[in-house]
Amino acid sequence: RAKSAGGNRFELADPEADARAITRHGLTTALPTALERGEFFIEYQPLVHLGDGSVRGAEALVRWLHPQHGVLGPDRFIPLAEHTGLIVPLGRWVLEQSVRQAREWRELHGGVGAVGPLRINVNLSPCQLTHPGLVQDTVDILERTGVEPDALCLEVTESALIGANDDLLKPLRRLAEMGVDIALDDFGTGYSNLANLRRLPVSVLKLDRSFTQSMQQFPADPVDLKIVEGIVSLAHSLDLAVTVEGVETGAQAEQLRLLGCDTAQGWYYARPGPPERLHELALADATG
Ligand code: C2E
Ligand code: MG
Ligand code: MG
Ligand code: MG
Repeated sequence: RAKSAGGNRFELADPEADARAITRHGLTTALPTALERGEFFIEYQPLVHLGDGSVRGAEALVRWLHPQHGVLGPDRFIPLAEHTGLIVPLGRWVLEQSVRQAREWRELHGGVGAVGPLRINVNLSPCQLTHPGLVQDTVDILERTGVEPDALCLEVTESALIGANDDLLKPLRRLAEMGVDIALDDFGTGYSNLANLRRLPVSVLKLDRSFTQSMQQFPADPVDLKIVEGIVSLAHSLDLAVTVEGVETGAQAEQLRLLGCDTAQGWYYARPGPPERLHELALADATG
């Protein structure tokens, strides 16, 4: 549209780029009403204990059922929501929904099996970290739902905390003191400052999918093996648990288990899905 308005008839239009720009613009303006209209929904992907294969919890992953474009993944709209500030109410909605879901699972599975109640992981964007309401919103949601803080893990990307000053870390510290777990997501993709880890109120490292991918070959690349081995031993010496992302094959799972990783997540176990699916998986493992 900008091109025809400019009247340059000789410039070749790139219809795909135009469509992308319009979609981007369209999506951005549709975001606030999408939240009001209830077009967002959450899929849950199981977190599995590598030692015994039991389901320990799930990560909440938001999706948008757009009336024209169908289901959109978070990579399509989270950056737009961050840009416009909608991420704050959207993130709060995801948190509340997910914690409610966790309570439902805990009611369904309370005392079932040896594994204990299911936990819930929720992603936080950097904008939510700097929003002054984060701690209070989280406390309110936990109180309203009657879920214990230690059932919740908030995932923050490593890059969001790079160079973080104390002001940025303060809300995370408060949450950690309450018993909420903080996970460092996509670990190993940024300029991991390992010494910096001690300063952060985190209790879980989520090793990025790129490491898992390099475990595809068996035996895996020896340098990558050494790196993962080093990260795991450092993490454990700092009392951090290690979760691995993007496990797609049994060989990867086995390799990562041998390397001492604690928990895994990936298509090998289950794709993200509706909450009933997680319930079934957890139940299967409690009874089977
Ligand atoms: P993430 O937190 O690192 O989540 C893991 C991503 O890996 C998810 O993509 C998941 O579907 C995908 N995944 C899981 N297992 C496998 C596997 O075995 N193979 C492959 N190839 N991929 C796998 P998804 O759902 O598209 O989410 C992308 C990112 O969007 C998330 O990355 C997270 O950073 C962000 N995100 C999702 N939900 C939320 C949310 O509620 N709030 C915020 N702020 N960000 C979110
Ligand atoms: Mg995550
Ligand atoms: Mg991740
Ligand atoms: Mg990732």
